Amino acid sequence: MTARLSPHSVRAVKTTPLRIAMLAPPWIEIPPAGYGGIEQVVDLLCRELVQRGHSVTLFAAPGTSSSATVRPLLDRPHPDAIGAALYEADHVALAFEAVDLAATAGVPFDVVHDHSGFTALAMADRIATPVLHTLHGPFTDDTSRFYARHGHKAAIVAISRGQLAKAPAGLTVSAVIPNPIDVGSWPLCRRKDDYLLWIGRMAADKGPHRAIDAARRAGRRLVLAGPIQPGQEGFFEREVRPRLDGERVQFVGEVGGVGKQELFARATALLMPIRWPEPFGMVMIEALACGTPVIAFPEGAASEIVIHGENGFLVKDEAEMAGAIAELGELDPGRCRASVSRYAADGIAARYELVYRELASQERIAGDPSAVVARRAAAPLTARRGDRPRAKASAMNAA
Ligand code: UDP
Repeated sequence: MTARLSPHSVRAVKTTPLRIAMLAPPWIEIPPAGYGGIEQVVDLLCRELVQRGHSVTLFAAPGTSSSATVRPLLDRPHPDAIGAALYEADHVALAFEAVDLAATAGVPFDVVHDHSGFTALAMADRIATPVLHTLHGPFTDDTSRFYARHGHKAAIVAISRGQLAKAPAGLTVSAVIPNPIDVGSWPLCRRKDDYLLWIGRMAADKGPHRAIDAARRAGRRLVLAGPIQPGQEGFFEREVRPRLDGERVQFVGEVGGVGKQELFARATALLMPIRWPEPFGMVMIEALACGTPVIAFPEGAASEIVIHGENGFLVKDEAEMAGAIAELGELDPGRCRASVSRYAADGIAARYELVYRELASQERIAGDPSAVVARRAAAPLTARRGDRPRAKASAMNAA
């Protein structure tokens, strides 16, 4: 499905509030107390969309609070079972029932905005309301096969150009809309303490062990922060714990709230020695909002977020990372913060609103009650891998 914008149709419906069903993952409450990048994104989007006058219903884990109308569906959050089919299917099925019920009751949603994983996209052609699916993960062999099969069932939004570039042939992406940040809620700190920061899931892809190597080579102190999620214990015990000394290399566990903000703000730099096509990377824009430069390997979205020599450095390995640490004095915290104004939450919500409106207007043209049938007919259920030479984004929103 291509959500190409017609300026004419947008002008006609510009001021009409939309009814938006926001479908968060079922794992972590919103806003997240600690770890939770997707939950941060959903929280900010809901807040901005409500401020823009829309009616937003947020289907999310219990414990969620938001200026949107919150509809928790499961009995409890499942932070230790992220990705479990049992909970995801349960959550999505209940949300789809509520969306269908609203339509039957004569108060249909204009759009379902899905952030919840794979189930909702795979089943998106089974409900009458159009679905917009934000791609939060990377394209691997397996996920590429999945998106080639099911991607036509919803409008798709990518979160970086790097992510889009790896999309499978035949997948149409409506727009590239990066993740948002509320820049003003992060403290700008110009006087830094003498430590480098690594923060994230304790996964090899994210490179905590490489951050240790780089900091050691540079002779600088490193603080590591983040949760050890199920399945990451072995990596932590093998690659990280033996190198901790509680002084030069310190692990502080999962952080949140004001403590997390301070940790970002007072760090000399954030180290991102990633070895995977990271689709976005919230920690980079959070550090930059605090005036903390980022030194990253040029993987995934890192080379879009980090502007070499302006808000950080792009380096190829641990040795170059150590060298770049010595150059950090050249970078101005104010310019680091300014570099994330392009991710300001109000602007990002406005871009999503355009996609919602286009989807809603396509649906009106398709006409109820045959909209589902029309969508199924337009998009065969078999994989379309290879239909087109490569994935494409419609022109409207490439970041
Ligand atoms: N985070 C946190 N506490 C931690 C580690 C991470 O609050 O101890 C947050 C971090 O600030 C960011 C999110 O979790 O908002 C991680 O998102 P990111 O996109 O960087 O990583 P991913 O989604 O790939 O895990």
